[in-house]
Amino acid sequence: MDLTERAEALPTEPGVYLFKNERGAILYIGKAQNLRARVRSYLGGGDGRYQIPALVDRARDVDVVVTHSVKDALLLENELIKRHKPPFNVRLRDDKQYLALRLEPKADWPRLTQVRRFRDDGAMYFGPYTSSSAMRDATSNLRRIFPLRSCSNAVFRDYRRRGRPCIEFQMKRCLGPCCDLVGADAYAELVNGTILFLKGRSDELVQELSRRMRAAGDAERFEEAAMLRDQIARVERTVERQQIVGERRVDRDVFGMARDGGEACVQVLHVREGRVVGAQDYAFSDVRIDDSALIGSFLGQYYGPEHERQIPSEVLTPGDVGDDGGLQSLLADTAGRKVGVHAPRRGPKLELVRMANRNAELSLARRLEARGSIDAVLAELQERLSLAALPRRIEGYDVSTLHGTLTVACRVAFENGRPSKPDYRRYRIKQAALDDDYAALREVFRRRLARADSEPLPDLFLVDGGKGHLGVLSAALADAGHSVDAVGISKERDLDGPSARVRRGGGLKAERLYLPGRRDPVLLPPSSRGLLYLQRVRDESHRFAIEFQRSLRSRQNFTSILEELPGIGPVKRRALLRELGSLRAIKEASIERLREVPGVSARDAAAIHGFFADLADSSEPDGS
Ligand code: SF4
Repeated sequence: MDLTERAEALPTEPGVYLFKNERGAILYIGKAQNLRARVRSYLGGGDGRYQIPALVDRARDVDVVVTHSVKDALLLENELIKRHKPPFNVRLRDDKQYLALRLEPKADWPRLTQVRRFRDDGAMYFGPYTSSSAMRDATSNLRRIFPLRSCSNAVFRDYRRRGRPCIEFQMKRCLGPCCDLVGADAYAELVNGTILFLKGRSDELVQELSRRMRAAGDAERFEEAAMLRDQIARVERTVERQQIVGERRVDRDVFGMARDGGEACVQVLHVREGRVVGAQDYAFSDVRIDDSALIGSFLGQYYGPEHERQIPSEVLTPGDVGDDGGLQSLLADTAGRKVGVHAPRRGPKLELVRMANRNAELSLARRLEARGSIDAVLAELQERLSLAALPRRIEGYDVSTLHGTLTVACRVAFENGRPSKPDYRRYRIKQAALDDDYAALREVFRRRLARADSEPLPDLFLVDGGKGHLGVLSAALADAGHSVDAVGISKERDLDGPSARVRRGGGLKAERLYLPGRRDPVLLPPSSRGLLYLQRVRDESHRFAIEFQRSLRSRQNFTSILEELPGIGPVKRRALLRELGSLRAIKEASIERLREVPGVSARDAAAIHGFFADLADSSEPDGS
């Protein structure tokens, strides 16, 4: 059956379709309200999508999965794109920092904390802020106006025990609730002021502060009146600097897009209470679908449940997302309320989309400019190292042993000169003997190459090491039947000659580059931008390996801390682990759940729970 006959036999229900090539590999995944009509539109030539003919040329079959609704189709499409990474789909690789301020008004002496996720836990969330510096600026400014405490609960309790406030009090950045130096009502006024301010309701806030200032003046509480006057002045100064876009009280995410052939950039502006509080851009290369399919697929992935994003009341898009309402219904389900998804054609909302489009254009222009300069670096590497392909995508590998007890390896990935963090991987070495770097590398490359179908191979493998390490890599590639460029990079030993020396880590060492089938290493001049780029990839793999070691060490510490818990001996520890299954589960268990563990008394349960609550408090970032 050819593709056209196959399309005619498809159901007219909603679902997901998968175009496949002659080997059954998935080329493109899409969703539709009416599967037959959508697939037909590709084949009939009337689709008009960017480079879609290239897809139709290569497609030999189409599979479909019928779903209950187009919303379910959207969720399934996301899942399948993540799993299969088809070459014609865009993939959102979200490694952006997503920061927000959290305030729990019902807590004792509430405070602001920085968080990375919005949760439905009864607390209030403000943001998102797109950089920690933007958030730090916002909080330090805010605390000058409304000096809420910045300490963790554990520190708060500690100072309460000591009976004196910390230096924040002397510096007038906190009113000292730990020692009852401020009354609950006065503190609650600060909390309310903070909330109004963060919600952008500054007019209301200024009115309220003015009312209280007058009342304090009438009652001859002049110090309080002066403090309120200063608060009003600071609020007004801060508000003056914030740009109002569109009507207040409406939270929106506004999307813009810019395109130059296969290069595309999507920009999102977060507008909260009428103010732009943050912006993020996402770049895509080798895009082969049209704008509508690109933005539709992007939005479906962007609001995927796993990101736990704050859903605004309105989403503005730069064009039709062509998903028959699937996104709108998904957002409404997640948020538990109505969410508007519009592509505005006129008025202030269109102006907002134009602003996002303009930002996307600027970001794309910056990227294309940087691309021009990285292309020169990659071309230098290709020429000097006689590489078969321009090394647009490089994977760097490093192996290290942790305290002689555990060997780990790491992979980093760079694409067009920039780290691609979603493609970083950590490997615990399972089979190789400790301190046998070669065996460890053999294991890593075997595991990596076994996934070549689901994780496309890079243009260049870079391994930290000399001839031997490169030999392991080359053999693994040959065994798996792949022909990909490979390079080993290692520092010259001190006894080696003085040629091409570079200053690194306080010493004078040159870098040697080893190539397969070549006896002598290549020494690039220290000023070579290509060499500097490879060093950057190698250094990043070291950094990532060290981070991995640290996290393993802290996990080991976690275990030993549990062992030191007063009153919890080996019998109770074993019972806890047996009953709850893991350290994480013990950490997250409620007192009631802990009490259900055989042998654990009410006192033990409270001690364990309090211990982990303190641990979480002391490791939580401060709100300042
Ligand atoms: S003075 Fe404020 S910040 Fe310092 S410990 Fe007391 S409550 Fe916390």
